[in-house]
Amino acid sequence: MLSSASGSSTGGQLRRITLPVYSSISLHASAGERSKLAGDSDYMAKHPGKVYLVGAGPGDPGLLTLRGREVLERAEAVFYDYLANPLLLEHATDEAELVCLGQHGKGRVLAQEEINRQVIAAAQDGKQVVRLKGGDPSVFARTGEEITALEAAGIAYEVVPGVTAALAASAYAGVPLTHRDYASCVALITGQECRDKTGSALDLAGLASFPGTLVFYMGVTTAPTWAAELMKHGKPAATPVAIVRHCSLAEQRTIETTLGEVPEVLAPRNLRPPAIIVVGEAVAARTASEWFTSRPLFGQTVLVTRPEEQAKSLVRKLQQLGATTKLQPAIEITPVADWSAVDTAIENLATCDWLVFSSANGVRFFLNRILQLDYDLRSLAHCRLAAIGPATAETLAEYHLRVDLQPETYRAEALAEQLAPQAAGQRCLLLRASRGREVLAETLSAASADVEQLVVYESRDVAQPRPEVAEALAAGHFDWLTVTSSAIARSLVNMFGDDLRNTKLAAISPLSAGVLEAAGYPPTVVAEEYTTEGLVRGIVG
Ligand code: SAH
Repeated sequence: MLSSASGSSTGGQLRRITLPVYSSISLHASAGERSKLAGDSDYMAKHPGKVYLVGAGPGDPGLLTLRGREVLERAEAVFYDYLANPLLLEHATDEAELVCLGQHGKGRVLAQEEINRQVIAAAQDGKQVVRLKGGDPSVFARTGEEITALEAAGIAYEVVPGVTAALAASAYAGVPLTHRDYASCVALITGQECRDKTGSALDLAGLASFPGTLVFYMGVTTAPTWAAELMKHGKPAATPVAIVRHCSLAEQRTIETTLGEVPEVLAPRNLRPPAIIVVGEAVAARTASEWFTSRPLFGQTVLVTRPEEQAKSLVRKLQQLGATTKLQPAIEITPVADWSAVDTAIENLATCDWLVFSSANGVRFFLNRILQLDYDLRSLAHCRLAAIGPATAETLAEYHLRVDLQPETYRAEALAEQLAPQAAGQRCLLLRASRGREVLAETLSAASADVEQLVVYESRDVAQPRPEVAEALAAGHFDWLTVTSSAIARSLVNMFGDDLRNTKLAAISPLSAGVLEAAGYPPTVVAEEYTTEGLVRGIVG
């Protein structure tokens, strides 16, 4: 399920989360090709398990490599760290076993030896295993130990790199690591080596005179120690420092300070990991604006309420503008239980003059049915096509069909008005949902058209929202809630009632807005153009 957006590290709604106790699962229960071959005793010899150590990147799910996605798509078991964005697990199949090795905010929950044991057990069971690690698997990720254990057990492996946090901070927060004038080299340093105030495994004296940028990973809690040591060994207190927290996520925040002030800045604000701390003159050359956080919807959380299969493009548009999105469909779309009326209409298409589509769903369900019945698009050869708006027309275009009529405003009234003058005596087939407005049928019938309404899909209210969505709305965690049809508006009123006052409502059209207003929840914006683009423009303001 598409449930959360680029931004959130914590918002992923996951399927099949297994607690971190891995018991070997029978060969017969595993996925994909393997299940076909289950029972073939030679199979494991021919297809031994393999472990892929994959870099998940710093948080933004778009930063996974293509190779990483490819191995995730065919993984049979995925062991993932808490720093890996759970949204990446969407790339895995429904059959893949997902094993969480730590909780957000709590870090690792299994000892390294236990992780090694479980990963090896899965591979010995013949599985394709992905070990998904935050950032890059080779940077402070104990990959060396895992590889040693794999080699000792004779398990084949591959390593797939990822974007490490230091490079993400440079790209997403504009903190330069190298600079022609100030820094010709970079050191990646773990702050965990200087826990002990009396001594440190790190050569901080050496690092104090390192002629480039110092990047501290896991350095928040130990900052007082390493900052003091660096200064003691001559690093100027005025050395510029940037602290980037939750880099590449909706929570990203950057604090600029100096080495002398690092302990003070970190302590009172109680800044929690994960944060990357960049120390060096290059930091002063930081760009004035942050492209990432200055996107128009950065930091805003939007609840999208369209049916799941229709939500993708709206979700993508919002995310591209920096929003974090959550999906809670207010209605669900399903095929009709009985196709006989549709099938009869398809058989008689030769007698039909106009096919009138009032939604993209209508196009899909009707045309897919034609193709399923082994007809092809020639069965539409005698029909003219009307579409209510651009999304419907675009869906027809996916089937290589061009519309003959599309109104200028994307409403049933406008479509009916424009079609009416040509409709007298014409057979008009209206492809529609199981519920909806009658205005098209009424207007065309009044214009002496021969109208047949054909239900090509069911539209039903979703009875209950997911509890976490209801709680988040009640707590005022959503900045916006999108209302993309009047049916959705009605369902939302039933679903959430007065909690709709805890967010700004964005309605796609005056019709949807009217439903909300009538229920006592006037929207903050109504799209000027009744499309999802228009809606997003309204939200951006
Ligand atoms: N292998 C990882 C590092 C793991 S160590 C990588 O290559 O990035 C964990 C540390 O990485 C955190 O304590 C923090 O310092 C840093 N880190 C990881 N993700 C981060 C993020 N999104 N923003 C800031 N720092 C991050």
